[in-house]
Amino acid sequence: MKKITIAIDGHSSCGKSTMAKDLAREVGYVYVDTGAMYRCVTLYALRNGLFTDNGINEDELRRQMDNIHITFRFNAEAGRPDTYLNGELVEREIRTMEVSNHVSPIATLGFVRQAMVAQQQEMGRGGGVVMDGRDIGTVVFPHAELKIFVTASAEVRAQRRYDELRQKGMEADYADILKNVQERDYIDSHREVSPLRQADDALLLDNSEMTIAQQKEWLLEQFRKATL
Ligand code: C5P
Repeated sequence: MKKITIAIDGHSSCGKSTMAKDLAREVGYVYVDTGAMYRCVTLYALRNGLFTDNGINEDELRRQMDNIHITFRFNAEAGRPDTYLNGELVEREIRTMEVSNHVSPIATLGFVRQAMVAQQQEMGRGGGVVMDGRDIGTVVFPHAELKIFVTASAEVRAQRRYDELRQKGMEADYADILKNVQERDYIDSHREVSPLRQADDALLLDNSEMTIAQQKEWLLEQFRKATL
């Protein structure tokens, strides 16, 4: 059977990565979490003092882009790929609130997006990939055979992220998380380069009221239709 390209875009914390990862496992495709890549660039910028009182030191970050190497390695225990920044496992470090609070401005930078998109297109060459992000169906793979745009209310999304952080034993404050979700929605949808928007040919999935099992069933149905 021909291996297709599946693009899953949508708002922050609406369970995109869980559904993309599960779908990839179910159908034997490779899963690529593009948010993790923008998070890696952010972690690198934070660690190297590239956030200043006046914002991001763009010139320095542009100069250092070639020093940022992002790779994924499949973690059989977790059933998903782990993210590595310059050879270091950073799966946990890139999910902190500090990184979440700094990632959207990094993702507005044209030169950062250009570098990430080129790597993503390379990873998805030949199909058989489920990629989740904000611009996969619009910019990275505009010809993807299956495009899904996922959303849920900001409150539901904040609650889910809160539960996820607590489950991992990490600090979490619901009000802070809700504010972060709303701010990221705003920045992601209003940025000049590749703003978050639903591709004309993407299927809309609002999962506010859906269980993971219902969502999975819906998704597999769309996959079957797309691969008929
Ligand atoms: O998906 P996740 O929440 O981990 O993504 C982190 C941030 O990276 C998003 O808030 C968004 O600003 C940015 N992003 C992006 N384009 C993508 C994936 C993520 O701009 N394809």
